[in-house]
This record gives sequence, structure tokens and C-alpha cells, in this order.
Amino acid sequence: MNYFQYRDNDLFCEDVALKDIAAQVGTPFYVYSHATLSRHLEAFSSAFADVPHLICYSIKANSNLAVLKTFVSHNAGFDIVSGGELFRAQQVGCDPAKIVYSGVGKTEAEIADALQAGILMFNVESRQELDTINAVAGRLGKKAGIAIRVNPDVDPQTHPYISTGMKKAKFGINISQALDDYRLAASLPNLEVIGVDCHIGSQLTKLSPFVDAIAKIRELVQTLQNEGFGIKYLDLGGGLGITYEEEEPPSPADYAEVIIEGTKGLGVTLVFEPGRVMVGNAGMLVSKVLYVKEGEAKNFVIVDAAMNDLTRPALYGSYQGIQAVDRSTSDTIVADVVGPICESGDFLAQDREITAFSQGDLLAVASAGAYGFTMSSNYNSRRRVPEIMVKGDQVMVIRKRETYDDLIKGESIPEGL
Ligand SMILES: *Cc1c(COP(=O)(O)O)cnc(C)c1O
Repeated sequence: MNYFQYRDNDLFCEDVALKDIAAQVGTPFYVYSHATLSRHLEAFSSAFADVPHLICYSIKANSNLAVLKTFVSHNAGFDIVSGGELFRAQQVGCDPAKIVYSGVGKTEAEIADALQAGILMFNVESRQELDTINAVAGRLGKKAGIAIRVNPDVDPQTHPYISTGMKKAKFGINISQALDDYRLAASLPNLEVIGVDCHIGSQLTKLSPFVDAIAKIRELVQTLQNEGFGIKYLDLGGGLGITYEEEEPPSPADYAEVIIEGTKGLGVTLVFEPGRVMVGNAGMLVSKVLYVKEGEAKNFVIVDAAMNDLTRPALYGSYQGIQAVDRSTSDTIVADVVGPICESGDFLAQDREITAFSQGDLLAVASAGAYGFTMSSNYNSRRRVPEIMVKGDQVMVIRKRETYDDLIKGESIPEGL
């Protein structure tokens, strides 16, 4: 459920026509619906209302400060994967006791910053990382709360690039080795073992991989509890999918049902790290048609947004819906929607039946709120686009369009060149 809807022929975000935002800020731009963000968080949270839980929104999906602040206002915490994300969490006043830190390559400096900030726990992904966190905590005179990220070896049935919980993945510690590593962790004086963590992948559209993972993790939690480990948190990661095309992912309520069932009686606080499901369908990328080119083999709609702005189609071949901002034309064509970048991989849609767009028309790329702006780059020296938040009839620029000066910030030409 989101708040992007047509009123007559005009596509609106909440109470604002996208064409009016385009007139105000130019194109391309990202636009996020505040009501949708709030609704997604509340739907997720209320699904788990009956059990102790903590929602740690995964910052990497969309890390704009205004988006983060929206979630903090709804009592969310954060899942961070870098020092930069910790910095963002601090900028919006997130309670550090609601921050978990994931990722296979935390540096000593990042670990130290997180300890100083007083985060809830580190989701640890290797033995060497256990030793490093222990050493850094010792130097700072702190105790580090930790969970071990366990790899339950289940197939999430998603794209291989976003599948993270199988044996050959770089993530986590194999479940067969986990007990040994927990014993090692318990022997390190500056660590406090408080949790078990797993995250098996992203854009999951079936419940069965979650069910399989929980069954395996449940056994481990019980074994650890029997050995006297004080496991207080069970972090089940993120991964719940969304509808891009015709997927029918489980609702948060369906997801909650199997999770609550699978974790019954463990006496732990459940931690979740949802990313995509919170923000994906709360955002669109709006772009203008520069040229329509009718080729012999193919038609091309050339737009002013490109793979540097939204890289998912180029990176994963993923589907993003293409909608007319003004749908008064009912004629359609089959075309590729492509950007100005000098790469054949620069497309937003391929062989797609879309509105027969004309030069100057606006189109909206749907489901662009997650892994959209955060994965964008300056490739081809393109300025990163503005991010807009709509709340009711308010239009708020939450990140300005970059300037040409922004593009060369930090660069210098050494004397004598
Ligand atoms: C990316 C990531 C998430 C969020 O995944 P979504 O599929 O966007 O919900 C959660 N936890 C970890 C460890 C991640 O790397």
C-alpha cells in the first residue's frame, strides 16, 4: 500500500501532482511519500505488537536524514553497516541502544566509534572480528554486546547478488561452527554475548526460507541457552520482499505469524532489520523524455535519468515499473527506456510495453525508494539528483541537486602538471 495514485490523468504523491514538483525542482528527482514511510513502519511494528521486538531499519536501503528521522519519530532503531551510517544515525538522534552493527568488514576505527556511541550490539561475522572487537573494547575500557551472524544455509530463492545466507556466501559463520565460536566469544573478557543474528537475503517473496532458517536458528538458541549463554536478542535480519512487477510477497502480518510461531517460548526480544519493505514502494524516480528514437530493431525512449541515478536494472536486470506522469495518452509502444550514459547497460526498462511517450513528457520509475539514491553515483560526471519528500500537500527538498562544484569537491590539480 502506498500513496502514489492517479487523480484523473495526473500521477500524485499524496496531495501533490508530480508534474508540479517537476516544475519546481526540474528533473530528474527522487520523491518519497512520508505517509507511506510511516504506514510501512507502523504495519511492521503492529504485526509484532504482541511480542517484545525492536525494529532496526536498515539504513543502506535509503539513508536520507529526513527518511531516517521519520523512522526515529516512530521509535525505530537502525541497522548500520559503516561508520558513515553510524554518523547518520547520530545526526537524527537515534537512541544508540537501538543500533545494531552488521557487515563483514568493520574497521577498528569504526568499531571504536560504535563502542563510544554505546550501540546495542555488533553482529559479528568472523572469528577474527571477535578478537578485534574484544581488543578495541579492552583499549577503551568498554564491554561490547555481540551476536554472531549465523549462516543457516538456506536458499532464499532470490537473485544471487542479494542472497546472503548460503554456505558459499561471504556473510556470517556457518551454523555448524557457531557453537564453537560462541564458546570462544564467551572466553573473551571484553565481549558480552547477548544475541544470535541471521540475515539470509533480500527481496524474499516466500515465507518458506524464513521458516527453514528460523527452525535451524531456534535449535542453536536453545543449545546456547542450555549451555548458560544469556541470549536476550534474536536478530532475524531483513529481507522481506516487495511488489516490483507481479510478485506477491507475504504481508508483514503473514511474516509475523510464522516468526512468532517459530520463536515461541525462547524468551528473547526479536530484532528486525527491514530495509526494502519500508522504503521501496514509498519512492519514485521522476524523469523527462529527452528523445524518442524509433530504431529498425527497437524503439528507445531516452530519458534524463540514467543508471548512475538508479542502478538496479543495470546491476541485477531488475524490473522497475514505468508510469506516465500524465496518462491521458492511451497509445502504447514497446521500447527500451534508456539514459544518456555511454554504456549499453544503461537502461531502466527493456522491451517494455509503455505509454507512447513524446519528447518532453514526464515518466515515473516506480518502486525506487530502496537501493535507488543510496546506490547512485556521479558516473559520466552527472550530478546526483535531488530528493524530495511529500507530506500531505507539502513539498520538501530533503537533498538538493548537486552542483558542478560539488562534482569536483576535494579534487586538486598539483602544481607543475
Ligand atoms: C541489506 C541488509 C538488510 C536489509 O535488507 P532488505 O532486504 O532491504 O530488508 C538487513 N540486514 C543486513 C545485515 C543487510 O545487509
